[in-house]
Amino acid sequence: MKPKLVRTLAALRRETAKWRKEDLRYAVVPTMGAIHSGHMELVSEGLKRADRVITTIFVNPKQFAANEDLDKYPRDEDGDVLKLGKAGTHLIYVPNPEEIYPEGFCTTVSLAGPAKAGLEDKFRPEFFDGVTTIVAKLFIQTGADFAMFGEKDYQQLKVVTRMAQDLDIPIEVVGVPTVREEDGLAKSSRNVYLSRQERQQALAIYSSISHAAERIRGGLDIQSATRLATRTLMALGFKVDYVTVRNAETLAPPQHRDEPLRIISAAWLGKTRLIDNISV
Ligand code: AMP
Repeated sequence: MKPKLVRTLAALRRETAKWRKEDLRYAVVPTMGAIHSGHMELVSEGLKRADRVITTIFVNPKQFAANEDLDKYPRDEDGDVLKLGKAGTHLIYVPNPEEIYPEGFCTTVSLAGPAKAGLEDKFRPEFFDGVTTIVAKLFIQTGADFAMFGEKDYQQLKVVTRMAQDLDIPIEVVGVPTVREEDGLAKSSRNVYLSRQERQQALAIYSSISHAAERIRGGLDIQSATRLATRTLMALGFKVDYVTVRNAETLAPPQHRDEPLRIISAAWLGKTRLIDNISV
């Protein structure tokens, strides 16, 4: 069925009010569009928990720094609507910019804790304030029961989970495992930036963190394993921002090996920044 598309908060609220009247539960899947099978998996997981799913599409200028790819970020609304329809989304909210940032808008939602773990925040200082501000708005605007987020953006998942708790927003944030290409590369809207050669090299980010995780499980110390992964990536031409192991819940540096651990990485391949993470 073709999903309904709305562009204003008033129209969004008319639709959700109907669902509430029928006692239906609904999930929201926030995206920046350029829909791929990772996003579609979030919709499928939403449908398992809720009666209805809303997908939002908004390329949020507040989470891009001046030197980042806001202008060339891939946009394809018609293609997105088709894919989201196939995935089973009921409603697509593509807010007009003034629905998100009306004139005079001056509020920022800003977290410490997982948002200041020294990972993405260290390299993209404006990023999480942009994310938490818009995600808080989307949680409140939709009033959804569930919010589906990908583990691919692991720090983001922890940050929005904490934000919903701290602000008593009655929504359950659900993390969904990363959807990958056949060779292991995490699906990402930004993969379209990769040249054919870079696309082949790109799988090294997943394979090197997978090897590091195996080595740690096999008894190698964390420092040596992450150093090895970093060196492997550098030798392949990546510029590595970080490859690090953190507590999988708090994102703090681990104190001992029997904590739940996550290996988390970010590296540049040419002009494209790739991120990935897996559990150890
Ligand atoms: P984006 O449009 O890139 O901002 O992503 C929107 C949502 O989709 C976020 O919750 C991402 O973590 C999630 N997502 C992106 N890529 C994947 C993937 N390969 N697997 C699962 N979720 C993903």
